[in-house]
Amino acid sequence: MTEQVRLSIIPSVDLVLGLSALEGVLQNLGREPVKIAVRNEIQKLRIELSGQTGGSTDETREQLADRIAEAVLHTLKSASAPLLRPVFNLTGTVIHTNLGRSRLPDEAVAAMATAAGEAVDLEFNLESGSRGDRDSQLEKLLCELTGAEAATVVNNNAAAVVLSLNTLAQDREVLISRGELVEIGGAFRIPEVMVSAGCRLKEVGTTNRTHARDYESGLSERAALIMKVHTSNYRIQGFTAAVSESELASIAEAAGIPLISDLGSGSLVDLSRFGLPAEPTVRATIESGADVVTFSGDKLLGGPQSGIIVGRADLIARIKSNPLKRAMRVDKTILAALLAVLQLHRDPEILKTRLPLLVDLCRSEDDIRLAVERVLPVVREALGSAFEASCIACKSQIGSGALPMEMIPSYALAIRPAMGGGEAQLSELTARLRSLEKPVIGRLSDGVLLLDLRCLRDEQGFCEQLSQV
Ligand SMILES: *Cc1c(COP(=O)(O)O)cnc(C)c1O
Repeated sequence: MTEQVRLSIIPSVDLVLGLSALEGVLQNLGREPVKIAVRNEIQKLRIELSGQTGGSTDETREQLADRIAEAVLHTLKSASAPLLRPVFNLTGTVIHTNLGRSRLPDEAVAAMATAAGEAVDLEFNLESGSRGDRDSQLEKLLCELTGAEAATVVNNNAAAVVLSLNTLAQDREVLISRGELVEIGGAFRIPEVMVSAGCRLKEVGTTNRTHARDYESGLSERAALIMKVHTSNYRIQGFTAAVSESELASIAEAAGIPLISDLGSGSLVDLSRFGLPAEPTVRATIESGADVVTFSGDKLLGGPQSGIIVGRADLIARIKSNPLKRAMRVDKTILAALLAVLQLHRDPEILKTRLPLLVDLCRSEDDIRLAVERVLPVVREALGSAFEASCIACKSQIGSGALPMEMIPSYALAIRPAMGGGEAQLSELTARLRSLEKPVIGRLSDGVLLLDLRCLRDEQGFCEQLSQV
């Protein structure tokens, strides 16, 4: 067969588009995306049939058309699956950055959906009928919850830090302890953030010990700001010294410059009231004299991705009028969710029952152990004799750098290969769990797969899926 003859058998785009197999997708997706997919498949076939080695085929034109239609359906199906798939987070890390951090409370999800689907009074004052400020409602709530004079919000805490530094210390020096030059993960490293914000880093003290006199001797007329960074993802232990916020506040005040504190997780409520490890609250940081405080909306606050800046009214006003603020502002759906989450924070008892983050963190060991015991028989049955499953005590962590040393006792399903099995078998199992309709994500620890059930809400859905493993 000559190449020309081989290629002449390739069906036309219109022939394939006319097949009844494609009727459904044509109706759902419209003609254009289906046509593109058909063209791509035809192109693949052309390459297949025109290869140097002369790939030939005994298929008829009609058979080839059917083959193309089938391939088109397959690609369109995987392409039209939602891009963000829900998963079971059984990693034991409650605020898991790679899994989207905090799950939002129902109130926030509903508020987001409304804001997404409707016109809203985002920057419109309904009383006066004139233009309003998109931060005004949020500011009122944040001031009430933190005791600060003013507040604003941007896309995430990294943006909050960059914007604050750029506004308050561009081309000038920012004093910071050598013990606080942290890397948060990703590309967020304090020395580099300083540079991108246009500030000069002035390191003071040492890695393990920094004293008040170090800050004082580091001050000069070039200094614009003293910064404190909450070392959220690690801890220096042993022979250490750091200067408290209140002492730093008086040093800054005497020098006539502001003190900024990057809290990272920043909780609005004292977590110890829920029996959780204590983390500095935003209110306490403001009370100890910080002029500006930045923190994440989706770490211990349990809200949507956002970065919150609270503090002195004159400084917040400058931050809000920085042109960069416009490049970092949050959209209406985020604002709606954040407002709903902050609203819940007004009453810690309500918060405890409604905020998924706190519900997960406060779940009792007994409750989790009972859940493990309930699903254990289902897991054993699904895995068969190749694996051994048991219930073991384990430790969950809060995650996202919050309280890195504080682990919370929990229970997990522990799955190991039965006698004779090895690591390969276990990694095959984890791959199969990841390929489920709602993927199950656990963690491997010393040759054992741990599924920490602290964050498992849909026990039934989890069990029903297991039969497909
Ligand atoms: C997490 C964290 C950040 C970055 O916050 P994002 O909301 O992830 O942008 C900055 N500083 C500290 C101390 C943090 O812990």
